[in-house]
Amino acid sequence: MAQFLSQIRVPLDWRNIIDIVVVAVVLYQLIMLIKGTRAVQLLKGLAVLLIVSNISKSLHLNTIDWLLDRVWTMLFVALPVVFQPELRRALEQIGRGRFFISHTSALGQEAFEQVVEELVRCSQVLSKNRIGALMAIERETGVQEFIETGIKIDGVVSSEFLVNVFIPNTPLHDGAVIIRGDRVAAAGCFLPLSENPNIQKELGTRHRAAIGLSEVSDALVIIVSEETGAVSVAIDGIITRFLDEKMLRDLLITKLQVKTSKSYVPFWRS
Ligand code: ATP
Ligand code: MG
Repeated sequence: MAQFLSQIRVPLDWRNIIDIVVVAVVLYQLIMLIKGTRAVQLLKGLAVLLIVSNISKSLHLNTIDWLLDRVWTMLFVALPVVFQPELRRALEQIGRGRFFISHTSALGQEAFEQVVEELVRCSQVLSKNRIGALMAIERETGVQEFIETGIKIDGVVSSEFLVNVFIPNTPLHDGAVIIRGDRVAAAGCFLPLSENPNIQKELGTRHRAAIGLSEVSDALVIIVSEETGAVSVAIDGIITRFLDEKMLRDLLITKLQVKTSKSYVPFWRS
């Protein structure tokens, strides 16, 4: 080890240590910021392109090299355009000083069970009264961009409050409620509609919006049908319908708890 360290040309003084730590923290935060979003796919694509570029350069494959050079130039222009919403959000977060705040709040066991219980209770009340509802629970992927389409609430999750939100003809009943940790972050949010052609035809836009959000993020979305009172849950683009009280509780506990226990909390907030 000592021999290895003596071979390192850069002296390990305190400035270098700070330098390395800052870069590591920033990189880690960036990875957490884009984890689970479509930017990950993009990074993988760029990595492949970089590898192919290097191979073609070292093997002097001139045509491929020339072509890839053009692709890099094109990407340089196209990427900020394609990823404009993500870039805007990231810059806004830095501007608000929220760069270091994680998207998921890790809940204690008691608070977690309380949230699940409130969600199960309100789903039952909504279902019995045939009140349509859409409730998204944020997990590791941030869904801030969808929270911003609604009305900010920031209130504690309670069954009574959630039922109230969805009473027809009230200002917030249209759209989705988004829950972050044990708080109702926003109501009246617009979710992206799924374009999956295999979704059953009898499912309308409420169900499609739930599936849509679960496709673009790891959020879990509860749907209560206004037409049938059926309770469904969408996760990872798949909808499970006709859940009774016990099935819903079990599903919420297994799906949310696994993620919650693994969920990322920066070391300075843990
Ligand atoms: P239901 O079984 O309750 O009738 P559905 O799947 O048939 O549900 P619609 O009848 O089309 O769906 O439900 C319309 C309601 O769904 C809207 O009033 C609105 O509250 C909600 N909704 C529709 N699209 C979206 C969306 N993109 N984001 C959030 N909420 C939406
Ligand atoms: Mg309908």
